[in-house]
Amino acid sequence: MSGTAGRNIAAALSWCAAAALVLPLGGLARLAAQSPADGIEVVQIRPDFYVIGGAGGNILMQVGAEGVVLVDSGSTQAADRVLAAIRRLTPRPIRYIINTTMDADHVGGNETLARAGLSILAGAVAAGAGLGDDLITNAGGASILAHENVLARMSAPTGQQAPFPPGLRPTKTFAYRMYSMYLNGEGIQVIHQPAAHTDGDTVVFFRRGDVIATGDIIDTTRFPVIDLQRGGTIQGEIDALNRLMDLSIHNLPLQWREERTLLVPGHGHVYDKLDLLEYRDAVTVVRDRILDLVTQGRTLAEVKAANPTLGYRSQYGADSGPWTTDMFVETIYSELAAKRRQK
Ligand SMILES: [Zn+2]
Repeated sequence: MSGTAGRNIAAALSWCAAAALVLPLGGLARLAAQSPADGIEVVQIRPDFYVIGGAGGNILMQVGAEGVVLVDSGSTQAADRVLAAIRRLTPRPIRYIINTTMDADHVGGNETLARAGLSILAGAVAAGAGLGDDLITNAGGASILAHENVLARMSAPTGQQAPFPPGLRPTKTFAYRMYSMYLNGEGIQVIHQPAAHTDGDTVVFFRRGDVIATGDIIDTTRFPVIDLQRGGTIQGEIDALNRLMDLSIHNLPLQWREERTLLVPGHGHVYDKLDLLEYRDAVTVVRDRILDLVTQGRTLAEVKAANPTLGYRSQYGADSGPWTTDMFVETIYSELAAKRRQK
């Protein structure tokens, strides 16, 4: 369920490009001078922000005086091409990779990109700043930051086969609700969204740039993937979408201006608050319809027959691939039916 089908990658690519051309983002929405010949496409969404597509999950890149901050790292296969794309944009070192989730197409480039990077504090420690922080990890490479549940799900108890090799795992984790830092003149808040797509999801809010990387809380190519095996829930997903609504601002009252919060999803094209509103409403309405039927004691077959995704199927539905509309409905049903049995 964590993978992205080829057609979704293709959709992400074309939609990323289309979003920059079609969304009225004014002079800031310039397509960077990048050749898509290697399958990697780069879209500049703000002066210091780029979306790198075609490498699995979307990668958000922020660049400033102190270096490069990446949100997610794409797939392992694409890592060298992603690094080349970053190098075409800036010679500055990669300082941080922030992982929004533990899916292979979001963390797969961690090792390659972290090794190509440089720890932000190594120089300060060498200069005798007296810092002994655990940020100095990863053999001087870039830090890989994620919620601790990401590390837990990527590891395994001693003696068991871990789902991910050590080089891909986070080097710095946090257990509480939010991790904050200031880099490149940006307040950056990494905010945990418990039990949404998985139990390790974070959204990454760049306060000055007003850009939010949402990870797979938003997947504009389909209904959100609720990964039950790794702690995802529909209620947590809806909570996370509402949290994103709270963090986002639209261009009101001066509607002729371009200012607005930009949301970079795990897959697909860049959203603004109105797009998010539609997505949040679609997910919530489908959940409410299924809840009504579950409350009436309907079976899964009856729920499916009642077509609870009516009106949203053409936009977010999928009949094939790793995450179909049926799977979305089944997942919501099983969670709500289990809750009902507990009552
Ligand atoms: Zn994803």
